[in-house]
Amino acid sequence: MKHINHRDVVVIGGGIIGAAIAYYGSKSGLEITVFEKNELGSGTSSKCDGDILAVDKDPGFNSQMALKSQKLVHELHTELDTPFEYRNYGSILVCENDMELEAAQKWVKQQQNAGLDFRMLDREDLRNESKYFADDLLGGLECQTDSMVNPYLFTYSLFEGAKRYGAHIHTHTEVVNLYKNQAKQFVIETNQGTFTANKVVNACGVWAPFIGKMLDIDIPIKPRKGQIIVASRQKPVGVRNVMEFGYLISKFGGERKVDPLIEKYGVALVMEPTESQNFLIGSSRQFNGYETKVDNEVMKCIAHRAVRFYPKIADMTVIRAYAGLRPWTADHLPIISQVEAIPGFYIAAGHEGDGISLAAITGKLIEEMINETNTSVPIEPLSLNRFHASLEHSFD
Ligand SMILES: Cc1cc2nc3c(=O)[nH]c(=O)nc-3n(C[C@H](O)[C@H](O)[C@H](O)COP(=O)(O)OP(=O)(O)OC[C@H]3O[C@@H](n4cnc5c(N)ncnc54)[C@H](O)[C@@H]3O)c2cc1C
Repeated sequence: MKHINHRDVVVIGGGIIGAAIAYYGSKSGLEITVFEKNELGSGTSSKCDGDILAVDKDPGFNSQMALKSQKLVHELHTELDTPFEYRNYGSILVCENDMELEAAQKWVKQQQNAGLDFRMLDREDLRNESKYFADDLLGGLECQTDSMVNPYLFTYSLFEGAKRYGAHIHTHTEVVNLYKNQAKQFVIETNQGTFTANKVVNACGVWAPFIGKMLDIDIPIKPRKGQIIVASRQKPVGVRNVMEFGYLISKFGGERKVDPLIEKYGVALVMEPTESQNFLIGSSRQFNGYETKVDNEVMKCIAHRAVRFYPKIADMTVIRAYAGLRPWTADHLPIISQVEAIPGFYIAAGHEGDGISLAAITGKLIEEMINETNTSVPIEPLSLNRFHASLEHSFD
């Protein structure tokens, strides 16, 4: 007789990544169980924006993976029953000086050569885009495949879909210990009892290293805090996502010509309209441990940056602000990987500021790895080994 607490595949973590794995896994016929210590989507996946972007991805592997994910999200928009405010209008980056415009031209060329749908925008294009833009902006660029979702609804919609395919979802179930028994099954101790499983996927975002530690595995992910201001529905500022070109520099750690406080907090404009025309105005980048308190000084910097690009929104009402933790890795790529030393253990975490964008492809890849079929994109660049190999190399 099958032991009642034995499961085939257990996914730890009920954020967007756990949701996508549960969806694609159960859709393919796998028996999936999810353990989430709080509510679904209560981690970073409800404290973020909802941009599904290729515009900010390195040309090559990174942007090709983003493109695949965008196509999957487009399919999910008709495939899933619960709507998640999907809008595929493309997105734009704006430039405030000649240096950025020149870098933008190079970026667009590289992306076009890699087959992506990018084009330059001039002043006139910006004026047509929004009458709220500052007059001195020189131009920008557009990525036509980019889209937006409500990340919280997207998470719930994927879980709803997974449940329909038979997935078991346990909330308020915290994994407190994990090891392998003599029968080579995983033993998963939770605050709701002990389970065994054949396979375990660690989809715990910034908390993934703690699950790794239970199995003596070092998972090099650090929390990178980001803050967002929510502005009320008041002025028709725009309908699609707008970022400043400096966002790319801030993300990848280059130097910008901005005021020292803006640089200190890694603030670069992201203006994302929600479906109901509120505005998510962001964001910042800081390594500050696991704290998620809203910092007023950072909020001021974000507001200054927004008014620099949109002077006419200075009097807009702010509804609230929040902060979330991006699961950062040193090379800005997620870890979507089997762990060679522990057969049956998988990691799907470390998506930094791209977890909403890359959730669909991540779910698909983990499903393909577990089912041992061809993967949608090559998985070597995403392996955990890349960090351990570079660590060994650095000691040579
Ligand atoms: C300000 C900001 C803006 C962002 N904007 C975007 C954007 O526009 N586009 C984009 O693509 N990405 C964006 N991101 C990044 C994106 O939000 C994350 O990459 C993504 O949400 C990570 O999802 P996750 O499922 O890995 O982690 P989480 O959503 O944090 O889920 C992990 C879950 O694991 C659970 N958990 C932890 N430990 C345990 C345990 N022991 N037992 C059981 N459960 C456990 C947690 O409770 C949590 O719910 C942004 C992030 C921030 C902070």
